[in-house]
Amino acid sequence: MNRASRTADRGPRSAKRLDGIEISLIRQINALATSDSLNLGIGEPNIEPDETLRALAARAAATGSWHYSPNAGTPSLRKKLCERIDFNPKNEICITAGTEEALYAIFQAYVSDGDEVLVPNPGFTSYPTLAKLAGGIPVPYSIEPPGWKLDAKAVLSKVTTRTKLIVINSPSNPLGSVVDRQTLETIAAAGPLVVSDAIYRHIWFDAPPPSMLGIGRNVIVVDGMSKSHSMTGLRLGWILAREEVMQPIVTAHQYIATCASVFSQQLAEMILDAPEWNASWLERVRAQFGQQREAALYSIEHELEAKIPPPAGAFYAFVPVPSCDTEMFARTLATDAAVLVIPGVAFGSAGEGFIRISFAASPETIGAGIERIGRWLRAAGR
Ligand code: PMP
Repeated sequence: MNRASRTADRGPRSAKRLDGIEISLIRQINALATSDSLNLGIGEPNIEPDETLRALAARAAATGSWHYSPNAGTPSLRKKLCERIDFNPKNEICITAGTEEALYAIFQAYVSDGDEVLVPNPGFTSYPTLAKLAGGIPVPYSIEPPGWKLDAKAVLSKVTTRTKLIVINSPSNPLGSVVDRQTLETIAAAGPLVVSDAIYRHIWFDAPPPSMLGIGRNVIVVDGMSKSHSMTGLRLGWILAREEVMQPIVTAHQYIATCASVFSQQLAEMILDAPEWNASWLERVRAQFGQQREAALYSIEHELEAKIPPPAGAFYAFVPVPSCDTEMFARTLATDAAVLVIPGVAFGSAGEGFIRISFAASPETIGAGIERIGRWLRAAGR
């Protein structure tokens, strides 16, 4: 079909850079939800703001600015976020419209046609797509079951002269695993720029995950309040990188978002100004996810007869299932068993044979949802 007839049949042809790129499987599966569905596909905390957080938000709306901030964010929030870390608030931090925009700006700033971007497999769906949108080539590095422990050699063996970025995500979506300090240091020393996605860093169970901050001048850390403060809709993230690395990122960010929502920036600053409340909030978040993790592990073992290593962080369990086409499996579960989970293949080829069960749901929903999966599997004779 030529370009003109395609245009007449189906509307204007989209830009070539979108060829082969569609709405993520995560969103597609979540779109199958009905009022009867139990949702274990969810990628955001099942936590509502408490009275204090709502009061801070009301104050931020009532008293805060409604004007643009500087592209990199309000100087006062940048200063607060740089307290106690050795980063210059003037030129080593940029506030973004969530971590997703942070990643987009970084990829736009650094990835040229044909550049290689090393991405985890299994790993968060956005990384390969953002690489392609920037003209680059995603090169997956494997993380192996059952422990999902990242082996620095698996990453370093993929580094070539064309490697532009290495993406590390700890704690991991979808694996829940955490990367140890030695491995982080080895990867940072490899040479290329490293993007450390630390969006789940506050959600841990036994020990805080090691951070890549300050490990090398080539390290870019992205972080935000979506998961830690249940602020997914308020779009507040940030990037920390050395001055010489940051400048092109702020330029890209200007043409994507101008600046992050000034309301959300104001609220973030108020949260940081209430350190005692903030510490207890984060404790409560971890305690709640800890209970939900136990509920998930119990049901996974008893209903699905799978014993997985307890996730060390984030709120996902990556569970082996007796199916070699987990996209079809997840779609069938959504329609026949009314339970939503994400097929492992959504996170790369190495995810085939697994499903991602989110435990960002009440223990009752987790128990009932996994029981539905178990019942469906037994009825299907698997
Ligand atoms: N990184 C990872 C690993 C994620 O799971 C998500 C959200 N699902 C994001 C980044 C984006 O988060 P946000 O844009 O809400 O900060």
